Amino acid sequence: MTTTAGPTFTAAARATDLTKVYGQGETMVVALDSVSVAFRRAEFTAIMGPSGSGKSTLMHCMAGLDSISQGSAAIGDTELNGLDDKRLTRLRRDKVGFVFQAFNLLPTLTAAENITLPMDIAGRKTDRAWVEKIVDTVGLSGRLAHRPAQLSGGQQQRVAVARALASRPEIIFADEPTGNLDSRSGAEVLAFLRSSVQELGQTVVMVTHDPVAASYADRVVFLADGRAVDDMTGPTANSVLDRMRRLPGGSPPLMRGANACR
Ligand code: ADP
Repeated sequence: MTTTAGPTFTAAARATDLTKVYGQGETMVVALDSVSVAFRRAEFTAIMGPSGSGKSTLMHCMAGLDSISQGSAAIGDTELNGLDDKRLTRLRRDKVGFVFQAFNLLPTLTAAENITLPMDIAGRKTDRAWVEKIVDTVGLSGRLAHRPAQLSGGQQQRVAVARALASRPEIIFADEPTGNLDSRSGAEVLAFLRSSVQELGQTVVMVTHDPVAASYADRVVFLADGRAVDDMTGPTANSVLDRMRRLPGGSPPLMRGANACR
């Protein structure tokens, strides 16, 4: 995992010896220390680690939302280093989907309008057949004319995931997408993320601190102190929890969804 050898598969995104330093002198923080990781196409990866281990920083640097101090990162074939602001903005718009803890839906628009909004803003033609397929997969077809306030938290977050999928991005980065949801709504969102990978071939990378959420992924990458320290395929909530306990600073997280989910 921390090897510097390139991946032997086509990666939707990768980081090579990625280092991120904040501040300087006495206030310097090495948030990422030479992390190498690649995310395979049509795979669902969870990034886990104790608070402060660098999860959000890794996501932000790989998604082109934050600068890289050393090393490199790429989305598909496009290296992020050296892209000017305009190209970075275009790359994020065309190749990256985002899902945040807060749903960030526009309250005055319907669910359907929220889903196609980024493409409408970009002046891109909506691929109707694709959006219908997403809506079928998300199971919200009866709710498309509703405004966010008329939807549950889980439904709102599913709309946000559908919005991220609508432009067929190379990769979706989800930052604690179930952090604001009860376990049942969280399970709905996670099931949708999973089916977007299995049925629609989407690549998803999700930052989470919840072992139950991570158990929906195909693979878990563990961070500790800014380093990638382990990699697990076919995770279960228990195997993730067990690994987390043995990480430096990895106090056992709550398995809040354990009974409702898997
Ligand atoms: P996690 O997402 O795993 O909780 P972060 O990526 O947020 O961890 O943070 C990793 C480290 O980098 C922490 O020590 C944090 O305090 C530091 N850090 C994150 N963002 C900044 C910033 N903008 N300025 C200074 N330090 C930061």
